[in-house]
Amino acid sequence: MPATPSSSVRFDLPDVDVFTRPYWDAAAEGLLLIRRCRDCARAHHYPREFCPYCWSEDVAWERAEGRARLYTWSVVHRNDLPPFGTRTPYVAAVVDLAEGPRMMTEVVECPEDELRIGMELTVTFRREGGHGSGQGSGDEGEIDVPVFRPQGSMAG
Ligand SMILES: [Zn+2]
Repeated sequence: MPATPSSSVRFDLPDVDVFTRPYWDAAAEGLLLIRRCRDCARAHHYPREFCPYCWSEDVAWERAEGRARLYTWSVVHRNDLPPFGTRTPYVAAVVDLAEGPRMMTEVVECPEDELRIGMELTVTFRREGGHGSGQGSGDEGEIDVPVFRPQGSMAG
């Protein structure tokens, strides 16, 4: 049996491998990538190595506009997995990207009572991970996670 994970284990950071590296590299530059099938022309998210609709392997990266509409959400008040415990409450959401794919994400910068099905959202990126103290980019293990905020939101 594997040993019990240490207390430093985090559950919010995805594995970055050779396949998903372009996605996270783009995210670090503030770009959201999706995958589009060249056979059936459908886009999908999260990134997969072959099309989930027709199983074609002729799938390419494409830059998404970063616009989406809120499909559904759940305000999470309790999550015992680190580091979520320090982050509650947060808005776990499912959004429909302008390109079509449905994506699990979080909505930020929006009061709970202003959330509306179908509201327009814009992608933004939250830097996570890394080992702290680091200045500048390039810190191994640091990634920019796409989340969404209300489109055109300003204070007030
Ligand atoms: Zn396809």
